Amino acid sequence: MPRVSCGCISSGWNDSQGQSISDVPLYYTTSSYQPGSRSTLLCCDDFKPRLDNWVDLWYSNSYTGKPTKIVYYGAAVDKTPQGCNQNNSGSTSRHENGGAFDLVGLDFSSRSYWWNDNYGNDKQFTMGVEASCHRKFKYSLGHHYNSAHHDHIHMDDSYDVAYGSTSWAMNNFLLNSLNDIFGYSFNTAKQSSGHNYYSTAVRNAVNSVLTSYGGVSNPNILAYPLHWEAYCRTAWLHGTD
Ligand SMILES: [Zn+2]
Repeated sequence: MPRVSCGCISSGWNDSQGQSISDVPLYYTTSSYQPGSRSTLLCCDDFKPRLDNWVDLWYSNSYTGKPTKIVYYGAAVDKTPQGCNQNNSGSTSRHENGGAFDLVGLDFSSRSYWWNDNYGNDKQFTMGVEASCHRKFKYSLGHHYNSAHHDHIHMDDSYDVAYGSTSWAMNNFLLNSLNDIFGYSFNTAKQSSGHNYYSTAVRNAVNSVLTSYGGVSNPNILAYPLHWEAYCRTAWLHGTD
């Protein structure tokens, strides 16, 4: 079967994946302010197990336990301009190929989590949720990425998780998570394209987090993708505890 640029099988991009992710009920909404309705997820066959794996993280390791409800928009089912897909109308986007998922809200047994409501009220928890996405998906675009992502987090079918020092998607998460979860005060303003954000001060902060809380000795997120994953895991656990 032919494969398209997103890596999914072109004839299988809209396969029905059921109405849940790892047994958590899935709701689809066309507005980030609405609770949504039960919906069948249409996405690539290889994307769904990765979403399952992301949800399974919460069950096995987190303080919140497994989510009880997931609200999303922007999967293959949605070809209308919506959320971060709005600039891709008429073109072939990750969403149209069934390789992207826009997370709008999560309910847990003890608390609710919604992008619009949480950021500003609970930055620590917001960045903790975003950390769970960065741990599993290379291209996770959160609240700070740009104005199109202020009300959701985009999770892309891209699996080879590793830190890139000039990636704004990763560095806006890194700087804001250091600030909001671990009490640092780095400048989070976006610099020029290709700017290297991994200053000595940022590196020292990341290494301190990893040695103090992450169980990593001699950390180096530039050299070792597993150390970047460990940072994301640590930020997730501390952000959502
Ligand atoms: Zn998206």
